[in-house]
Amino acid sequence: MRFNVAQLLKEPVGSTRKYHLAEEIQDLDEEVKLTHPVEGAIRLIHTTEGVLVSGQLHTEVELTCSRCLESFSTAVDFMLEEEFHPTIDINSGAKLPLLDGEDRATLIDGQHIIDLLEVMRQDILLALPPRPLCKPDCAGLCSQCGQNLNEGPCTCEQPLGDPRWEVLRTLR
Ligand SMILES: [Zn+2]
Ligand SMILES: [Zn+2]
Repeated sequence: MRFNVAQLLKEPVGSTRKYHLAEEIQDLDEEVKLTHPVEGAIRLIHTTEGVLVSGQLHTEVELTCSRCLESFSTAVDFMLEEEFHPTIDINSGAKLPLLDGEDRATLIDGQHIIDLLEVMRQDILLALPPRPLCKPDCAGLCSQCGQNLNEGPCTCEQPLGDPRWEVLRTLR
C-alpha cells in the first residue's frame, strides 16, 4: 500500500499514475479482519497541493452478527478519495510547514512515499454496517436458553397468547 510519488511530483500538475491493487492485508485493524485482498483500480493525480488518490475498492471482512453472535464474512465496497500533502519540497529538499489540523495519515513522507493503509482502514470502518446481520432474517438467540434459533427451535416455553404456538400446545 506504499507508493513512491517522487517522479510524479516532478512532473507537471495534472500528471497521473494508475495502479491496480490486489493486496492481502493481515493487520489492518484490531477489530476488523479482512478475509479477502483489497482489490481495485486507483489513480494518483499530481495536484497543486500534492497528490490526489482516488479509486473504487473492494474487499471482504469478517463481522460478528449482532443478533446471533456468529461470525460471517461480508463484501465491502468503498470509495477512496484523499489528497496527500508533501512534507518536503521535491525540488529544493526544503522542509515544508504542516497545514493546521493536517491528518498524519495524509502526509507524503520524507522519502516521498504515500502510505494508503491508514486512510483505507478509516474508509473500511466507515463502510461497515453499525448493526451487522449474518442474514436479513437472522432469528437470533433464544433470550432464555441462548440457543441459536437459526439452527432450529429450542425447547423453552413460548409466551402464552402467541397464536403461532396454539397449534403446538393442542398437540401436546
Ligand atoms: Zn445472525
Ligand atoms: Zn430457548
